[in-house]
Amino acid sequence: MKSQSNSTAAREMICIACPLGCHLTVRQEKEEEISVTGNKCARGKEYGREEYLAPKRMVTCTCPTGSERFPRVPVRTVEAIPRELIDELLQELYRTRVPLPVTRGDILVRDFRGTGVDVIATMSLEEG
Ligand code: SF4
Repeated sequence: MKSQSNSTAAREMICIACPLGCHLTVRQEKEEEISVTGNKCARGKEYGREEYLAPKRMVTCTCPTGSERFPRVPVRTVEAIPRELIDELLQELYRTRVPLPVTRGDILVRDFRGTGVDVIATMSLEEG
């Protein structure tokens, strides 16, 4: 009987969990089994697995303040969010007006779409 392989095409990626930047090869062997090779440590295995199944990214951008002196305030997510939600988050942030004064660390969006991830200001600004 001819044997059949259930593995999918391999995906190449670079681990960004530390500056070494190991070249990872990730493939799905079976439904629940992800194989990661090329990693020098366990963090790389976890990174490869997550990046394969549910990639996430940190998001940084700026929000309007309505101030003439400081028209925009830089913001970022406190953790990475699922990649498919990034466009939606950016659209919301471009529309979110942040009145001054704002303090670094202020939460501007709480628990975006139930991800548990907040968006915070990364700079303190006063109208002055
Ligand atoms: S696999 Fe480990 S050693 Fe390699 S880049 Fe990732 S975290 Fe660093």
